[in-house]
Amino acid sequence: MKPKDVNREKGKNKPLIGVLPLWDAQKESIWMLPDYMDALAQAGALPFILPLKAADDDVERLLGLCDGLLFTGGQDVAPAIYGMEDQTGKTEPAELRDSLEIRVLELALRRDMPLFGICRGLQFINAFLGGTLYQDLPTQHLSDTTHSQGRPYSQPVHRVELQGALKELLGRQTLQVNSLHHQAIKELAPELQTMALSEDGLIEAVCLPSKKFVWAVQWHPEFLFRTDESSRTLFSTFVSACKSSV
Ligand code: MN
Repeated sequence: MKPKDVNREKGKNKPLIGVLPLWDAQKESIWMLPDYMDALAQAGALPFILPLKAADDDVERLLGLCDGLLFTGGQDVAPAIYGMEDQTGKTEPAELRDSLEIRVLELALRRDMPLFGICRGLQFINAFLGGTLYQDLPTQHLSDTTHSQGRPYSQPVHRVELQGALKELLGRQTLQVNSLHHQAIKELAPELQTMALSEDGLIEAVCLPSKKFVWAVQWHPEFLFRTDESSRTLFSTFVSACKSSV
């Protein structure tokens, strides 16, 4: 085989990962943080950004192209999704994202596709599966722990205590993480399992044991993977799960 062909063959083995688009409300436009794409690419995947607007049968077709899905960070999950109203007046919703992500998540779980959720992704998966959220931590869960840090985002600001499969994977009790959230899991969805707890008792990582690979974290490994081995392990474990479902 010529070197070019070898590369092409290698490329074919990369799992295709659909990345849920970010939404810029001011520009009324989808956008993407390169770090999400770079973190997946360095772990051996070929990520691509999904469209924000798609008819149901188009969502189905798009998911047929994906070996896995990344649920990205972003605006707040609409309280109606977890059966509540906006209690603090601080909810920043993104209806178009909610509308797409409900349909993507429903279908992806039915197909048992590998999923990884980050920040809003974790909150969305919890809300969708019947859990609830703190809508504004400074109002509803005041503590000394910094959950809403400034730059640089590659700087860890609080510790989490690891449990279950994540503790096993990383082979350690605790982890220093970054933190860019004003919401968090309040009641955990019945089917989800906690994999990390912050110093002030917030659930910062979960998995859905009834599925092949549904993991989510409250922190942002995409800002850490260049310097932090645990973040790289998270992405490579997700990408491996996507590979085995190719
Ligand atoms: Mn946090």
